[in-house]
Amino acid sequence: MSASQRTNSAVGRVYLVGAGPGDPGLLTLRGADCLARADLVLYDGLVNPLLLRYSHALAEQTCRVDGPEGRVLRQDEINRRLIEAAWSGKTVVRLKGGDPFIFGRGSEEAAALSEAGIPFEVVPGITAATGAAVYTGISLTHRDHASAVAFVTGHEDPTKSTSLDYNALAKFPGTLVFYMGLHRLGAIAQSLMEAGKPKSTPVCVVSRATTPRQRAVTGTLQDIAELAIAAELHAPSLVIVGDCVRQREQARWFEGRPLFGQVIGIPRPEEQADDTALRAVELGALPVLLPTIEIAPPESWDEVDAKLLSLREFDWIVFTSVNGVHALLGRLWKSGRDMRAFGNARLATIGPSTAAALEKYSLRADLIPAEFRAEALARELSPHVAGKKVLWARASRGRDVLPVELAKVGATLTQLVVYQNRDLDQLPSSSLQQIERGELDWIGLSSPSIARNLARLLTDDAKNWLGNKTKLASISPVTSAAAREVGLPINVEATDYTWEGLFDAMKTAIADKP
Ligand code: SAH
Repeated sequence: MSASQRTNSAVGRVYLVGAGPGDPGLLTLRGADCLARADLVLYDGLVNPLLLRYSHALAEQTCRVDGPEGRVLRQDEINRRLIEAAWSGKTVVRLKGGDPFIFGRGSEEAAALSEAGIPFEVVPGITAATGAAVYTGISLTHRDHASAVAFVTGHEDPTKSTSLDYNALAKFPGTLVFYMGLHRLGAIAQSLMEAGKPKSTPVCVVSRATTPRQRAVTGTLQDIAELAIAAELHAPSLVIVGDCVRQREQARWFEGRPLFGQVIGIPRPEEQADDTALRAVELGALPVLLPTIEIAPPESWDEVDAKLLSLREFDWIVFTSVNGVHALLGRLWKSGRDMRAFGNARLATIGPSTAAALEKYSLRADLIPAEFRAEALARELSPHVAGKKVLWARASRGRDVLPVELAKVGATLTQLVVYQNRDLDQLPSSSLQQIERGELDWIGLSSPSIARNLARLLTDDAKNWLGNKTKLASISPVTSAAAREVGLPINVEATDYTWEGLFDAMKTAIADKP
C-alpha cells in the first residue's frame, strides 16, 4: 500500500521527543504529555528508563535488538518501525537522549516520516552540552570569558579527513563542546594545540552528566587525555574546552546534594514507587526499584460497595495507608458518588502521607497521631470512639493493633478490605543482579511485611553484602524488629516514620562517616 492510500485511514501520529540528558526532571512538560498519550514508546540507549513511568504504553528499546547477539539497530530499521507503528494507527513516541536534533539523527527520522506521509511533531530536549555544563557549574557563555559556544562532533578523527577545520576551531572565540569525543580525547586536544590553541586552555570532561553517576575531571589541553584515562571515565561523556571551565569551583551545586551518588533500593510496590524514586533522584541518589508485593483490588467489590452506601453511619473512618485512601475514594467516585457520602464522619490517618492522599480528594484528616504507627493511632483515637462506630479501610493483610485496642475502649469496629497486597515470587532480575554485585549502597525498609518479603526474595549472594556495603535503613522500631527476626541487619533507623525520614537517616549516616 502506498503512503497516499494510507493517509485516508487512521494513521497514528509520531512525536519525536527529547528526553534530556539523564535527570528525569529535565523532560519538558510537552514531552511528559506525549508520553502519557502514547501507545508505543521507542527509546534509545541514552534515555533514563525512569521516564517510561510517565507512560502506560508498550516500550521498546531501539538501540539493540533483543536476543543474544544484541546487534545495534540500523537507522533505517528504526525508521521502518516508526512508520509501521503509525500506519497501524498507533500514537508513537520516539524518545531520544538530549535534544532530538542535536547529534541525534532526529531530523533523519523526521524526513522519513514526512516522506511516508505520517504526521509528526518534534519536542526539543535539553541537550547534553547545556545539561552537563549547568550540572557541573560551568556557564558555556560568559561576559568576560566566552562570547560564543560551539557544539562539535568528536566522532570524526581529526588526524584523518574530517569536515571540521581545527584551525578555525582553535581560533573560535568561545567555548567548544565536543560530543562523542571521549575515545578521541587525545587526538582532539593534540589537534587543537597544533592549530595554535594554548596548551593551558582549561578542559572539563563530564561523564554521565545530570545523573547520580555524574563525574567531572578538569585539566588542560595538555594533560586532560591522561587525567581522563586515569579517572576511568565512562560513556557518555562530553568534553568542554575553554576559559569558562574555571568558574566550576564557584558554581558547583549538583554534586553537593545530600545523597549524591548513593544507589538506593526501594522495595515499594510498583504502584507506589514513583514519588519515592523521584524524591531519591532529587536528593542526588540513584533509585533501584525492588517491588516485593503488588497491590490488587479486593477479590470482590461487593462488600465495599455495600459499605459505600452507608458511610455516613460511621462516626470515624480510619485510613492506615495511601493505597487504602485511593482504593476507597476511587471506588466511591466510580460508583457515581463523591465525598458528600462521608456525611459528618470524622477521618483519621496513620501519618502525613496518608493524610496528603486524602487531601487530593479535598478531605482533611481530623486526626493524625504524633507518631506514625498503629499503636499511636489506636492510643490517640481511643478517647474519641467509646461506643462509636468506626470503619477501617484496610489491606487484606496487616497488623491487628487497631481491632484489639479499639475493642478495649468499646468502639464498634468494621474492618473493610479495600485492597489486597499480594507477595511477588521474585525481584526484577536486573535489580537482583545489582544487589548481588554489591552495587547498592542502601535499601530502605518501610514496613515489617516488606522486610520479611525482601528476606524471602534475596539470594545468598545478595545477602552477603547486607550490613556492610549495602546498608539497611529501617523506617521504625517495629520494622527493625521484624527485619532482625528474619536475619536482616539494620544499620540505621528513621526517627520520622516516613520515606523522608528514611532518607534523613541515610543522610545523617553519610554525614557522620569519618
Ligand atoms: N541528542 C543528544 C546527543 C546524542 S550524541 C543530545 O542532544 O544530548 C551522544 C553523545 O552525547 C555522547 O557521546 C556524549 O558525548 C553526549 N551525551 C549524551 N548524554 C550525556 C550525558 N548524560 N553526559 C555526558 N555526555 C552525554
